[in-house]
Amino acid sequence: MGRFNLSRRIRALPPYLFAELDRKKQEVRARGVDIIDLGVGDPDRPTPRFIVERLKREAAVSANHQYPSYEGLPQFRTAAAAWYKERFGVSLDPGNEVVALIGSKEGIAHFPLAFVNPGDVVLVPDPGYPVYHISTMFAGGKSHFLPLERENGFLPELAKIPAKALAKAKILFINYPNNPTSAIADRKFYRKVLAFAEEHDLIVAHDVAYTEIYFDGVKPMSILELPGAKKRCIEFHSLSKTYNMTGWRIGFAVGNPELVGGLGKIKTNVDSGVFQAVQGAAIAALTSGQDAADAIRRTYQERRDVLIPGLRALGLDPVMPRATFYVWIPVPKGYTSASFCEHLLTRAGIVTTPGNGFGKSGEGYVRIALTKEKGRIREALDRMKRVGL
Ligand SMILES: *Cc1c(COP(=O)(O)O)cnc(C)c1O
Repeated sequence: MGRFNLSRRIRALPPYLFAELDRKKQEVRARGVDIIDLGVGDPDRPTPRFIVERLKREAAVSANHQYPSYEGLPQFRTAAAAWYKERFGVSLDPGNEVVALIGSKEGIAHFPLAFVNPGDVVLVPDPGYPVYHISTMFAGGKSHFLPLERENGFLPELAKIPAKALAKAKILFINYPNNPTSAIADRKFYRKVLAFAEEHDLIVAHDVAYTEIYFDGVKPMSILELPGAKKRCIEFHSLSKTYNMTGWRIGFAVGNPELVGGLGKIKTNVDSGVFQAVQGAAIAALTSGQDAADAIRRTYQERRDVLIPGLRALGLDPVMPRATFYVWIPVPKGYTSASFCEHLLTRAGIVTTPGNGFGKSGEGYVRIALTKEKGRIREALDRMKRVGL
């Protein structure tokens, strides 16, 4: 038995907070209830046709059947750099400032292994995408959590980080547009982050999975747009959300060549790159012009514009999303994150995600994903009205 005891790093994983909710979901489903699942952050619509067609052609090319290059095809890295130039006005050298990822999650999960030593501190947003904290732990580092509060626009208060944590801090993770709060950051915030990182010699790791899911025509920016940002920043980008490609597993990291190179060193030792046919399809997506991405963001904006007024009519006070496909909602009086999710699930057959699953500061919120058609969102609102909140 002892020999098969899980490692300390696995045993130190935070408890899985959704187990009870998963069990209840199965119970409700077994009762024959038509469940509306607004829990998962996974696009419901298929990948645009032209991308699928390109994969089919690439899959038939035998040169693509062999091991890919570790860092990504030169054509893929060039397409990613050209896309960054076009979208953000940021120049990148495809030779050493771009690396292909098996989805941005893979890059985020491996990044701390390249730069964190046991005892180092990593600054991690709370609530946040769980991978920042877990990859820090796996590297032997310690997370110091940065609360994201509504009154601060869900931006971390850098001045409040204790000097003791800061002295050992190596990486600052940020994520805008933000999952789960839907907040966006402006140039002023990024300037502050960069000055702070300079002052305390931090690496800035920016998760930009949602820069293309924006609303009302307001385009989120890249921190690399700031002069000097390339000295200490890396950004993790993804095709998953932009082109409904979550299942394909392709993303890329860009920025400082030493940071990109360090991540590449880990990757050469644990994986062998992205299937070249998938890289070919990703090139098609990145070089296609942005009609497909436009159509996708329009879809989410329409859904948002159904959900938000409906929630307000029910007396809720959701955060108005300017980007991402999430709606972050304070729970009504008398509920916790978990008890409100349970209420919606057992009484109305609606799955939402409890905010505390994203960290302590997420308590008191639930997250709804706009990943179902408008008709289903209306149905969910009707049910909420019927059962009461
Ligand atoms: C979806 C998501 C990712 C990861 O996406 P990949 O499919 O791995 O590219 C990264 N960060 C956040 C915040 C996400 O929500």
